[in-house]
Amino acid sequence: MKENGGWFRRFWQKIKLGLQRFMAGRYGTDKLNTLILGIGLALCLVSMFMPWALVKLILVSLSYVFMGIAIFRSLSRNTYKRYQENRRYLALQTRMKDKTHKYYRCPKCRQSVRVPKGKGKIAITCPKCKERFVKKT
Ligand SMILES: [Zn+2]
Repeated sequence: MKENGGWFRRFWQKIKLGLQRFMAGRYGTDKLNTLILGIGLALCLVSMFMPWALVKLILVSLSYVFMGIAIFRSLSRNTYKRYQENRRYLALQTRMKDKTHKYYRCPKCRQSVRVPKGKGKIAITCPKCKERFVKKT
């Protein structure tokens, strides 16, 4: 029995080491991946209750696409790009939760500018390139 346990531990360590080696330099998972995977699983779940074959097929295919993207992202070696994607997603999340501000993009340099809501028409000065533009908030 003791012999067996040792064998299993060695085997498990080998798997862990192999996995670590495999994931070295790869991106792994993040908040955005959790969302993508969640959507994929939700679609898969919904498809199970679909009585129409065509809709079911579409939902299942979509769920595979989402899960495929999640797997691709976690195995990706382009960590910088994946990090940027996650950063954009987190920024979008903050924006959607923020009820007291409006977000605009500077028409000149595309910098995102945050302004308080409910002030009527105001002139906004871009903090980056100092371009001025008028928006309703
Ligand atoms: Zn600007």
